[in-house]
Amino acid sequence: MANRENKHSQNVSGSFYCTAPDDPDGCTACRICYDTAPEFFMSDAEGNAYVFNQPKNEEEIALCQEQLDICPSQSIGNDG
Ligand code: SF4
Repeated sequence: MANRENKHSQNVSGSFYCTAPDDPDGCTACRICYDTAPEFFMSDAEGNAYVFNQPKNEEEIALCQEQLDICPSQSIGNDG
């Protein structure tokens, strides 16, 4: 489960977030989320993901939830 106590500093406020890369369960820069859902996830200078745009409708939320479910390091969270 993503660590909500150690969020990436560049996340925009809202339900979805990425864990900070220095967290033991932080992003490993696999690229999946920002390649699959570039409208919501972005890479920082080191390749680690953060949420720059929050989903606003059911379809968008489902896409972000899908990234949460498949993230191999479980570093995407949803505060709901
Ligand atoms: S899917 Fe997970 S590990 Fe991969 S880039 Fe996104 S947050 Fe990082």
